[in-house]
Amino acid sequence: MNEADSENIAAAFRRRGYALTDEIKKADAVVVNTCTVRQKAEDKAISQIGRLRIWKEKTPEGKLFVVGCAAQKLGGKYLKNRFPFVDEVVGAKAIEQFEDSLVAQLGPSPETETSHQNIYRSPQTAYVTIMRGCSHKCSYCIVPAVRGPAVFLSPDAILKDAAEKLEAGAKEIVLLGQTVNAYRHGRTTFSELLKKVLALPGLGRLRFMSPHPLYFDKAFEELLAAEPKLARHIHLPAQSGSDKILKAMRRGYTSGEYLDLINRLREAAPGLSVSTDFIVGYPGETEKDFKDTLRLVEEGRFSLAYCFKYSPRTDKPEMAATISETVMEARLEKLLAAVKENSRLVLNERIGKIEEVLFETETYGRASGNFAVRVKAGGTPGRMAAVLVSGAEKNTLNGKLQ
Ligand code: SAH
Ligand code: SF4
Repeated sequence: MNEADSENIAAAFRRRGYALTDEIKKADAVVVNTCTVRQKAEDKAISQIGRLRIWKEKTPEGKLFVVGCAAQKLGGKYLKNRFPFVDEVVGAKAIEQFEDSLVAQLGPSPETETSHQNIYRSPQTAYVTIMRGCSHKCSYCIVPAVRGPAVFLSPDAILKDAAEKLEAGAKEIVLLGQTVNAYRHGRTTFSELLKKVLALPGLGRLRFMSPHPLYFDKAFEELLAAEPKLARHIHLPAQSGSDKILKAMRRGYTSGEYLDLINRLREAAPGLSVSTDFIVGYPGETEKDFKDTLRLVEEGRFSLAYCFKYSPRTDKPEMAATISETVMEARLEKLLAAVKENSRLVLNERIGKIEEVLFETETYGRASGNFAVRVKAGGTPGRMAAVLVSGAEKNTLNGKLQ
């Protein structure tokens, strides 16, 4: 989500004739797009802003923008007080109005360039935001507070954005939202939106992130079964394998329901790869709760899992961390080891099978199941090709073009 916002901000600069630079010495403006999902992310943003003091002293005419979720949480007043050299603060809720801040700081745009340019993914993959904010109330999560309630973009706006990115050369679209499969606009459901995007000329593959387990329905399962352009991969955050913890988190499902769901999705799309997120050390998490998470890792057969230590995001006493740092660290390590071993098994199962790969270079691409794939030679960037997998190493499959 933040990456997509950063790309939109970069596009707003490009319209004014600016280009991206990796060299801060050359920069006329610096934008720090901040995250606050965990305290560590916010701390990183703060120290990054602090380090920019030197740049600002050397480049007094340069503009420094601080934007995003940590900016929303901390507020412009606080940030400008602590870092008086910051020119403009734009919180995540106002990110759509970033253009106005640019006009205020840099003047109106000559509208020279409108083309989109990816920063984070390969030129073949483009992000398309379909919803902003989130209306869930997961107990640990700051997203609804800093990004506001769920707002769904209109199908017309989404299709226009996707079509422009495909025309500019993208082959793969990633639809983005915090509960992306909860999408609904008028009569258009998530599955109907997917069908419309799938029908766009030039589209090779469609992904979306992040869905929530509560919103997959029969219509989606049928579409997944029928539509090979829908990626054979779903990133479906589980958060915990303990029903007690899931309830405290207000996730709305049990680990059994979660497993049933991924089994149904795998029935619809055999070979579907599933990745997930876990939080360890949620307040009150016992050894048994943690073991339930380890069991879910085994039963879920995840290709990948991002694991995080619980980070309190409010001052509410009931949300304070109750698990010591030592225990949390030990659980995280155990979980990471289990995830690694499990994904090794999942990757090894692919050996001898054919993967459809979207090539980014002549030797590297991404399979529909989201695995990184390497071949010795022969890939065409931007083209899809079948690869016979001969081996697996860390998170990468090795193979040969067919
Ligand atoms: N909307 C997505 C998640 C967005 S936040 C969903 O509901 O699945 C991305 C991930 O950050 C979450 O899946 C969760 O694992 C992690 N996360 C969010 N808040 C956290 C917190 N307070 N402490 C640790 N990890 C957190
Ligand atoms: Fe946060 Fe995701 Fe829950 Fe929304 S659904 S509150 S973004 S974890």
